[in-house]
Amino acid sequence: MSPDTDDWVKRALAGDRRSISRCVTLVENGGPEGRNVLREMRAKGKTALKIGITGPPGSGKSTLVNRLATSLAEQHKQVGIIAIDPSSPFTGGAILGDRVRMDASPQENNIFFRSMGSRGAVGGLSDACAGAVFVLEACGFDPILIETVGVGQAEIEIIRHSDIVVVVAVPGLGDDIQTIKAGIMEIGDLFVVNKCDLPGADRAAHELESTLHEKVPLVSAAEGTGIEELVSLIYEKAGDTRKRIEKGADSMECKKIDHIGIAVNSIEERLKFYEEILGLHLEGVETVEAQKVKTAFIPCGDSELELLESTADDGAVARFIEKNGEGIQHIALQVDDIEQALEELREKGVRLIDETPRIGAGGARIAFVHPKSTGGVLLELCERD
Ligand code: GDP
Repeated sequence: MSPDTDDWVKRALAGDRRSISRCVTLVENGGPEGRNVLREMRAKGKTALKIGITGPPGSGKSTLVNRLATSLAEQHKQVGIIAIDPSSPFTGGAILGDRVRMDASPQENNIFFRSMGSRGAVGGLSDACAGAVFVLEACGFDPILIETVGVGQAEIEIIRHSDIVVVVAVPGLGDDIQTIKAGIMEIGDLFVVNKCDLPGADRAAHELESTLHEKVPLVSAAEGTGIEELVSLIYEKAGDTRKRIEKGADSMECKKIDHIGIAVNSIEERLKFYEEILGLHLEGVETVEAQKVKTAFIPCGDSELELLESTADDGAVARFIEKNGEGIQHIALQVDDIEQALEELREKGVRLIDETPRIGAGGARIAFVHPKSTGGVLLELCERD
């Protein structure tokens, strides 16, 4: 990473607004510097609640997002807002008049606003948004409101990654209700009718309620009514998703490719290629009786290549060579806790060859996953001390 970028990242993480903005821009632009920023930000391992807000143009999304953000900021939360407008060529800070006004509020220090149009996002809006989310999460913003017009498939794709999606409807939508039903109905977790100060709001809410079979809250973003209740409802509903995320957080972690197993007729023969031509160095040869195989480990960067030579005709490697000839026989992923990983895979209906770990070469605890569950790859899980 260039010293400049390193500086931006440090200052962004310390809360400097301009640096945060700069980091988002770098991530949006893609390229090596953007990827470096992203890596640093992801390494912080922070996760914020992501609230997607969508609905037809004019339904009051931006007004509502302003209200929600102000209300959340009053609760001393650091709120990130990413407003996506694919039709706008502009990307950057406060462009919309509303947002400028909002920035003048006493809560301005707790709210970070970013708009995203088509021009700034070189690699596509969806990636740009995901990148911006990582930056804001790392910089301590939680929740993050992601606002987008709920019309196109691209926007639906963007918002699908939120923990909770709020769909904003308004009275008198008529045919638009049908649009909502068709497009964003299935991704909405919470539906709200805005502009309840206008006639027909109750009817719109009832109409939605009869389809959804759940209560549809009424708010007026313009007048600021029903906002606190909506914030509570969002957190209540998001609670379930949050629990799912947290459960996911301590789920199995594949740390790296531990090694790639290559079936060979003769280790001695094949070693010549790896040592003399590729310039790699053999770490050691070991026979694993239980698996009827002789293995040679050749470190390569962070991982290793494992040459496998059969020691008996009825072993797995012998059968592999008989069927396929020499070649890649398995890929091994390193995990922290192999028992937990196996338990999790079992729960998810993955077919295992080994129900419990056994001892492989180098004393590693290993277990194989059936190729039927992995798309044709014999997968080894491997836990090392
Ligand atoms: P967006 O396109 O969905 O982001 O909608 P905006 O937030 O820009 O709002 C569109 C228009 O509706 C603006 O003129 C707002 O002032 C108005 N508006 C937003 N919320 C309300 C509301 O609760 N009541 C009324 N009467 N107007 C509203």
